[in-house]
Amino acid sequence: MIQIRTPQEIDLMARGGAIIAGLVQELEDRIEPGMTTHAIDEFSERYIEAHEGATPAFRGLYGFPGSVCISVNEEIVHGIPSAERVLEAGDIVSVDVGVKLDGWCSDSAWTFAVGDIADEVQALLDVTRDALRNAVAAAVPGKHVGDIGAAVVETVQGTEFGIVRDLVGHGIGREVHEDPQVPNVGRAGFGPLLREGMVLAIEPMLSSGSTHIRTLDDAWTVVTADRALSAHYEHSVAITAEGPRILTGGDDEPAESVQARTPSSRTA
Ligand code: MG
Ligand code: MG
Repeated sequence: MIQIRTPQEIDLMARGGAIIAGLVQELEDRIEPGMTTHAIDEFSERYIEAHEGATPAFRGLYGFPGSVCISVNEEIVHGIPSAERVLEAGDIVSVDVGVKLDGWCSDSAWTFAVGDIADEVQALLDVTRDALRNAVAAAVPGKHVGDIGAAVVETVQGTEFGIVRDLVGHGIGREVHEDPQVPNVGRAGFGPLLREGMVLAIEPMLSSGSTHIRTLDDAWTVVTADRALSAHYEHSVAITAEGPRILTGGDDEPAESVQARTPSSRTA
């Protein structure tokens, strides 16, 4: 069942979301070659718990062993933090963060460059981020869940990248994962109606190669089938009469419209 939240409830979710936005900014400054994914996990856990009442929502969720999910290069999602995994210049690392505060969840992901990265890798990051911006812009009352996926498709069309279809966004609120599913491939006008008060985690994942997925033997880490690079950006977004409200964004804004994107940033 798709939940409708009051403006007060959405404000509460935004408090946890602001913690994630602050963490993402800190990580942007800190992630560098030589850092382990365990160090990112430890920093993230400490940062979240420094805020009274806040806990990492993914710690122990379905048995997940870390506080945040950290996925390097060909890893798409659900990477387990490790003291053995040392980041190198040229890597990309996706950090997926959930926060629970006063019983409300928020969820956001960001892919960071480690040191200098190749132009074509930067293009993958740019297109994925554009896809998120455009998808968020489609999250308005009266549109449908399919409009969100359609915005991702339209953004990615004509680039060399592909959309990972087997992983989807979701409703969010008291639980991290609620109804509805929010696919990254959709048709405008199809799927559940978007209504004021719905809160969705919108999270396009793109691949520079195969869009098929595999799960590693650790039973968590999801990788591209051909080990091509993957990027992932996610915001928790409230659908309001005034338009999409990004709860996890800090200063991040939705695109003005799908037309507002800059095609020049989408190719290597
Ligand atoms: Mg997430
Ligand atoms: Mg999510």
